[in-house]
Amino acid sequence: MKKVLIVGGGIAGGSLALQLMDKGIDVTILDRGENHSSVIATGMVNPMVFRRMNLSWRAQEFIPYARRFYSGLEKKFEASFLADLKIRRFFSSEQERGYWQTKQHEDLYKDFLTVHEDFNIPIPNAKSEFGSGVVKSAFWIRSEKFMTSLHDYLRLKDVLKIETFKGHLFNQKKLEYEDIKYDAVAFCCGSNNDKIPFFKAAKIQYNRGQILDIHSEELPEKESWNRKGFILPIGSNKFKLGATYEWNEPELNTTKEARDKLELVINSITDLSYSVLGQKVGMRPTVSDRRPVLGMHPEHKGLFIFNGLGTKGYMLAPLLSFEMAEYMVNGKPLHPEVEYTRFIK
Ligand SMILES: Cc1cc2nc3c(=O)[nH]c(=O)nc-3n(C[C@H](O)[C@H](O)[C@H](O)COP(=O)(O)OP(=O)(O)OC[C@H]3O[C@@H](n4cnc5c(N)ncnc54)[C@H](O)[C@@H]3O)c2cc1C
Repeated sequence: MKKVLIVGGGIAGGSLALQLMDKGIDVTILDRGENHSSVIATGMVNPMVFRRMNLSWRAQEFIPYARRFYSGLEKKFEASFLADLKIRRFFSSEQERGYWQTKQHEDLYKDFLTVHEDFNIPIPNAKSEFGSGVVKSAFWIRSEKFMTSLHDYLRLKDVLKIETFKGHLFNQKKLEYEDIKYDAVAFCCGSNNDKIPFFKAAKIQYNRGQILDIHSEELPEKESWNRKGFILPIGSNKFKLGATYEWNEPELNTTKEARDKLELVINSITDLSYSVLGQKVGMRPTVSDRRPVLGMHPEHKGLFIFNGLGTKGYMLAPLLSFEMAEYMVNGKPLHPEVEYTRFIK
């Protein structure tokens, strides 16, 4: 494989392009210039799923790979967008604290949960009737800065074109787009997947997410507080407050309901004062079985999909893009849980 066309330049398409370029492949990306997920994302890489206090799927593989990937890109792009993150979870119940209490001693969790003898050490100005625990190994990516640096780099390398993929310019049998022949075409279109004719079986669902940008002189800047949602300090007394999860809401508009919900999040954690600076909305590309979607179309050889990164694109994309590139170039099998063919009966 020598020449690949990628449709979609979000975190999925962009990271796949970098991995293929590392293998010496000649890559072109078409991106329609309207990003509603990777740029809006808060960019937190959190190993835990808090409801049952479980480790996120393959987190022990994804987290260290992702950290190396982003710090390598900081050097390559000569930009800074990776920051350590201390997440403090305020427990919602005795049961939740109990899960942590047990798991903090298990081998699987030793890199991710701080061991607490006493969960009830008071945290000034926080409402913490069930106590709190601190997550280890988390970090966050300043998504807007990252995506700008990524696109600048790809433009500099003459890889990225800001244009929409047009079906009538594509000869699917010959794998030609605008009369240029490719060895493979990879679709990484996020929530716009349903407009791409080849991979509709994947049923990427719309999951709308809204966040508030807030300002506060009083909230702590050294840790991210979490319960029902999160408050993420981003510097200069500014914070992101998120996020909503709204199923099957395809319209990209901010709503008062979401703002009220997000204000309830902060009010459930603290009475410290803040003011709202703005509200943003994005669309997560989510799959009902909560697994990403990778692979080659079983009938249309040479057509690939890399999508379904859901709520955790910044954690998953680095290693999955490596695995996808290995699959495309060297035929290495994908992780069985991500294969596109699971949707084909
Ligand atoms: C409010 C919110 C908060 C989030 N917070 C986090 C977080 O803290 N941590 C985390 O890991 N994840 C977070 N996410 C999820 C994360 O944003 C997604 O998992 C990730 O961005 C998906 O990346 P993607 O590249 O698949 O899709 P996208 O970012 O949507 O990229 C798809 C790209 O394809 C292009 N495209 C589509 N169709 C075409 C076409 N026909 N022709 C050309 N180009 C096309 C689009 O322009 C777009 O740039 C959040 C999401 C939201 C909405």
